[in-house]
Amino acid sequence: MGTTPSRKRLVACPTCKQLTEFSSKNAFRPFCSKRCELIDLGAWASEQYAIPAGNKLHEQPDDLSQS
Ligand SMILES: [Zn+2]
Repeated sequence: MGTTPSRKRLVACPTCKQLTEFSSKNAFRPFCSKRCELIDLGAWASEQYAIPAGNKLHEQPDDLSQS
């Protein structure tokens, strides 16, 4: 018991969708590279910043019949 086959596990990089090895050899897993990791983190952060406080977009009256 304990014979781990050295099978490569491949995952698609969340950023560029390139297949990359999911192993301890890959320090950036599940990303293919540090660049992709940073891009993903950056996208995450900017998404957070992009969310305005409050969803008041639908509260504006459409002055339909304001006669
Ligand atoms: Zn990538």
